[in-house]
Amino acid sequence: MFPAPGHDHGRCASDAISHAEAICASRHERLTPIRRRVLEALLASHAPLGAYDLIDRLAAQGGRPAPITIYRALDFLREQGLVHRIESRNAFIACVHNHASGDPVVFLICEKCGAVGEAAAAAVADTIRSASRAAGFTPKTPVIEIFGICAHCKAA
Ligand SMILES: [Zn+2]
Ligand SMILES: [Zn+2]
Ligand SMILES: [Zn+2]
Repeated sequence: MFPAPGHDHGRCASDAISHAEAICASRHERLTPIRRRVLEALLASHAPLGAYDLIDRLAAQGGRPAPITIYRALDFLREQGLVHRIESRNAFIACVHNHASGDPVVFLICEKCGAVGEAAAAAVADTIRSASRAAGFTPKTPVIEIFGICAHCKAA
């Protein structure tokens, strides 16, 4: 879940782009150049990035994009389940899982290295759904953020 430091990240990032292309193609959505650049910038590492960090990264490649352009691309990527927002960090992270939008997501956030892992949430999702149903409540953004220390930092 937490990729080992020194893993083949080039491979990891290109697999994620192929995954995104496949998802968009199957839904008849377009991974436009700006959407792809935003996703690539998020895939540059396994740490979440804020919207302005993203703008800086893209500006470094030439041509500073307007914030609205970035937010629109992020909205699209979030709707497709390719990017999640981490509320407590006000930051975004690419996702390679195949979610339906509105699926509960559990983030494990390392306080030391900033890496974010996504835990398998099926059992948690069932619990949230039944607890919500019992309360007559409709959950909209079921995101759970858990802070701690990742396995790699613990071993270091
Ligand atoms: Zn990686
Ligand atoms: Zn996800
Ligand atoms: Zn860590």
